[in-house]
Amino acid sequence: MKFLNCNENELHEALKRTNGYFAGNIEFRELEQTGKRSFRGTLTVKDSRGPGSRTSPFNFNPSGNPHRIKAACWHVHGVFFDELMAVNEDVKIRSNGTKIEGGKGNWADRNIGSITYPVYYSEACDCNEKTEDGNFYKSMNKQTKK
Ligand SMILES: [Zn+2]
Repeated sequence: MKFLNCNENELHEALKRTNGYFAGNIEFRELEQTGKRSFRGTLTVKDSRGPGSRTSPFNFNPSGNPHRIKAACWHVHGVFFDELMAVNEDVKIRSNGTKIEGGKGNWADRNIGSITYPVYYSEACDCNEKTEDGNFYKSMNKQTKK
């Protein structure tokens, strides 16, 4: 991902806020400054069994549960983008060549499976069960109760 028109403190503040929803399990795998106010970075999880981790659409372990991947899930990215835009409303974010916009565009979903076995990015993790109050994730819901 590329982050333009922001500084490192803002990226770390957004990460800190994101971690509030995922029990502190999220970190930058790499964060490289590429210009005066531009960065390239990747989000990942510290523990692949913890909140916000990805699961594989194709590999299942013997008990039938999806194999876990040491990568941050769709929700982590959506929350991080929301928080970064809250910290700095002028930030510009590019992910896979796509410009991330606030609101709906931020939460655009896509098929990461195949045509015959579609798996949506938003389904490739454990935080999908919508709770009664309409919140997306179990982990997020716990952390944001007021
Ligand atoms: Zn998720």
